Amino acid sequence: MRRLVETAVCIVAALLLVGTWLVEPYSVVSGSMHPTLHGPHRAFDCPHCLQAVTTAADFAPIPDRPAYCPRCKRPGPIEDRLPIIPGDGLLVDRTAFWYRTPRRGEIVAFRLPAEAKKVAVKRIIGLPNETIEIRHGQIFADGLRIATPVDEDFTPPAWYDGTTRWTLGPDEYFALGDNPGLSDDSRTWPQGPGVSAQLIIGKPFIVHAPRRLAEPFGLRFHVPDITAIRYIR
Ligand SMILES: [Zn+2]
Repeated sequence: MRRLVETAVCIVAALLLVGTWLVEPYSVVSGSMHPTLHGPHRAFDCPHCLQAVTTAADFAPIPDRPAYCPRCKRPGPIEDRLPIIPGDGLLVDRTAFWYRTPRRGEIVAFRLPAEAKKVAVKRIIGLPNETIEIRHGQIFADGLRIATPVDEDFTPPAWYDGTTRWTLGPDEYFALGDNPGLSDDSRTWPQGPGVSAQLIIGKPFIVHAPRRLAEPFGLRFHVPDITAIRYIR
């Protein structure tokens, strides 16, 4: 009997060990992938059209200014009075790139080239050896225009002036956030744009711990929002 228990404990421990090694949990810490993935954010339902709206909370909003609904463009609640909800919890599949390389358009988790302790989640835009160019907010790889998920309201910020053309090395990828105004990514790194293949940890595949606010009896909690659990495309 005792041996049985010991064996069971060993098996469970081994499974946990292997499990945490193959699949790594991660919390989104910035609004750089907003609204695909939420970092710390504020949320409200538009009082006019009932659209559920979220705004990234990377910077303090202008005091006493309403948040605007992106759908009907009308003002909602005062943004800085909305509480901040923590970022999405993701699971990263570390085995995703054992047998293939990342594809264009795929969301990946990687260690930042300048700061390996920090993990970022961004979208792969450029592949090894490609020349990437950003012209008037449109992205080209080796001269061909790439469709991006941010095409709709992509306005190139002022820091696009200067270098807008980069050539990647033989094992380097070009990574951008879906929210270009808030994203620190291949466009802005002083050491160059490339994320080398060895820095890529894996592929986030599920938002397993989205959060929402609960306010029972005037108290305030962040609780898991199981209705927002979703696969990442
Ligand atoms: Zn609205």
